[in-house]
Amino acid sequence: MNTKELDNKYIMHTYGRYDVALKSGKGRYAYDEDGKRYLDVSSGIGVNALGYCDEGYVKAVSAQLSEIQHMSNYFYCPQASKLAETLCEATGFSKVCFGNSGAEANECAIKVARKYSFDKYGEGRNEIITLSNSFHGRTVTTLSATGQDVFHNYFFPFTEGFMYADPDLDSVKAQLTESTCGVLIECVQGEGGVNILDKDFVKALRELCDERDLVLIVDEVQTGIGRTGRLFCFENFGIMPDLATCAKGLGGGLPIGACLCAEKLAGVMTPSTHGSTFAANPVVCAGANYILSVVNTEEFLSEVRAKGEYLKEKLSALKGVKSVRGLGLMIGIELENGDAHEIAAKCVEDGLLIITAKSLLRMLPPLNITRDELDEAVAILAENL
Ligand SMILES: *Cc1c(COP(=O)(O)O)cnc(C)c1O
Repeated sequence: MNTKELDNKYIMHTYGRYDVALKSGKGRYAYDEDGKRYLDVSSGIGVNALGYCDEGYVKAVSAQLSEIQHMSNYFYCPQASKLAETLCEATGFSKVCFGNSGAEANECAIKVARKYSFDKYGEGRNEIITLSNSFHGRTVTTLSATGQDVFHNYFFPFTEGFMYADPDLDSVKAQLTESTCGVLIECVQGEGGVNILDKDFVKALRELCDERDLVLIVDEVQTGIGRTGRLFCFENFGIMPDLATCAKGLGGGLPIGACLCAEKLAGVMTPSTHGSTFAANPVVCAGANYILSVVNTEEFLSEVRAKGEYLKEKLSALKGVKSVRGLGLMIGIELENGDAHEIAAKCVEDGLLIITAKSLLRMLPPLNITRDELDEAVAILAENL
């Protein structure tokens, strides 16, 4: 049996896949089992921050792998300590809790927000307001946090304590009760259709949270680590959250999640209130340390912003494109007509790995993509529109 047949026979059918099995990759190009080349503007959903098998990244990860590959959390891990320091020093957050995925990072943030409130106000103040069209993960609790009805099915009973609001202040206020302890947002909703929140709304939300001692959580699982042209997307909005989560781009292709908290929450989590066997793995942290050493410079981030503008301009000029939105290299393309999924599948056939979000085409190219490669991507897309 070939790869596709084995997958169909032995892997649970939880994904709709393109008809391609990827075997290798270098830079912004992936190769399938027949050696066909694909330009990748999806980065494995914003994960391969520096593309495939970046030389420095491979070196950092391989060196760590032959040093020590895992230790339990009963021991200190130099690579994890260094990564936590870098994240805190770069952002102004005080402490980090590591996990293995975006959903896990959000679970941690939800636990921190609820325990902060429990410690200070006692039982019962535990509701978290999230936004319509949000996406926060696939665990039972993060599905519950996700503000889309389609995700609230089959797996009953879901975790209680989530209220859903539209992205405007009145709607959020309408969901506020004595029991509210926090608000969870994505500054740019990824899966929900590359929706950029209004800057004044985000600022007003920050003020509301300050007034009511609510924990403001920003889910940066997709937007974090340079994706929007700033290390964290909330920097574009002129606010500082109490908690931020990140995951996708942080490990450059290896699984990691992180929950970052402000000083006022630094003492909330105490021994045995949270943990994860694989969290803060030294090999993964070595990869993340390398990613940050490249991405977290003003020069690199300003290039992400400039390439984002360049790409948006090129895409906006295409026939069949209604509008283009996004920040940095997180781009949504609204089509005049035609089915985004069909067009994406055709692009893949033509050697361009592109994804969708709702009815939009979505691009999350590797952050180190070149302008020539962006031109090539736009040309393949243009032919399929
Ligand atoms: C992808 C994503 C998640 C879930 O991350 P996993 O690593 O798949 O658990 C959560 N929030 C946002 C905004 C995401 O884009």
